[in-house]
Amino acid sequence: MPVKDLTVGPLLEAEKEKPSRDRDPVHPQLARPQKVGFVSLGCPKNLVDSEVMMGLLARAGAELTRRAEDADVIVVNTCSFIESAQQESINTILEMAGLKTTGKAKKLVVAGCLVERFRDQIRKDIPEVDAVVGTGELENILAATGVASPASSTNSPFTILTSRPEGDARAAQGRFSRESWDGAIGDLPNYLYDEETPRVLATPRHMAYIKIAEGCDHPCTFCIIPQLRGQFRSRRFASVVAEAERLAQSGVREITLIGQDTTCYGEDFGLKDGLALLLEKLAAIEDLRWVRFLYAYPNKITGKLMETIASHEKICSYMDVPLQHASASVLKRMKRGGGADVFLGSIAKMRQTIPDLTLRTSFIVGFPGETEKEFEELCDFVREVQFDWMGTFSYSDQEGAAAFDLDKKLSPREIERRRKHLMSIQRQISKKKKKKLIGREFDLLLEGESEETELLLEGRTPMHAPEIDGKVFVNDFPEDSKPEPGRFYRCEITEAHDYDLVARIV
Ligand code: SF4
Repeated sequence: MPVKDLTVGPLLEAEKEKPSRDRDPVHPQLARPQKVGFVSLGCPKNLVDSEVMMGLLARAGAELTRRAEDADVIVVNTCSFIESAQQESINTILEMAGLKTTGKAKKLVVAGCLVERFRDQIRKDIPEVDAVVGTGELENILAATGVASPASSTNSPFTILTSRPEGDARAAQGRFSRESWDGAIGDLPNYLYDEETPRVLATPRHMAYIKIAEGCDHPCTFCIIPQLRGQFRSRRFASVVAEAERLAQSGVREITLIGQDTTCYGEDFGLKDGLALLLEKLAAIEDLRWVRFLYAYPNKITGKLMETIASHEKICSYMDVPLQHASASVLKRMKRGGGADVFLGSIAKMRQTIPDLTLRTSFIVGFPGETEKEFEELCDFVREVQFDWMGTFSYSDQEGAAAFDLDKKLSPREIERRRKHLMSIQRQISKKKKKKLIGREFDLLLEGESEETELLLEGRTPMHAPEIDGKVFVNDFPEDSKPEPGRFYRCEITEAHDYDLVARIV
């Protein structure tokens, strides 16, 4: 079972320098620091939540450990996006619960999306769980772990109260309703960290994610994230910039902006083209070398955004636009709009405006009622666009999502057949595209020894977002050099596989 143990980085320098009076008071009954172990599941957005909780704990005096077996308290930050993610979360909780008998652990805390979805059930069915912390209650991690007294962690100084008119309208229509969910608390999550919030980075020292917004207002019928994470709200512009500057000062060279929908950034403040303005500002931070963003909503990609990417060297020519499908009729049932023709038009524009654009997308196959013809439309679209990176999810039925009530569900077997088929088309596309890169030179951020073999090094080019895209294996470098992780090198691509590349440092 895949369990992601965090590589716990140091508390950000600026945080360590804070006078102790500004830190959270340690629980008076604690004679020695609590050792807290974290397991973070799911996406980078959840990882940032884990980093914030670890930051709050470290600031309050807890000791963070990478080994769950050594921890006094174990926190599992869960994902509840689709059924397989829920299952992985439950398996991990059960595995960690075992450490309460075989290991040192005295407490088990469950945090994250699974708590928003199954709050009461977790406590009822897994008695080893001592406390739960929802996505809107991150500062409650102090009381839940027993690291600080409850008084210091009940009022949230980080709650912000902005919203988009679309979000308010959808709220009135019941988009965020969780009434049918057993134990869900009445208030939707409304938490957002800011530049003052301590964070312990779990990513390698040279890269960091910044969450610029939280929640989502879109009506996608397959998705329960709006109910799990609340209405869309953006962090203040100055707060994001201040955090990016601080990260750059502490050695971070690559920043990836994330949120459920990064392209809506700033709309709740009445800011037009907020993401483009933010990228421009971050590109001016001297010590940063690469800035990129993930999770763009297709109809929110403006001319200004494309031009901003094209005109700044530090902004990676990289777009991640989850399209979910290409058939207009399926997209209509998904309540997303658009279709192959519309998408082809905007992709042509992106490629025209941004030279050498790397385009990533993801699709859902097997949406209720998806006919063979609609699926073929999607396959044709994929053949035509020739994406650089593509992910395919199997439709997962979620109680509470509007699609749950739709007829004509496909069998899991048929959904899997379609997923495999779509991915086999993409494999051929990727293979061809990667082959064309042989002989070309790129900047490479060296990440260190390869996870697959210690005989190779591993890195990424601007075409590779952290963690989600293929890899670049480095098998050669000048004899007199000693490549160091976290530094940039010029490399030449020498070999290509289906998704991965092999390069030499020149
Ligand atoms: S844009 Fe759609 S799929 Fe993405 S988080 Fe929002 S509702 Fe879910």
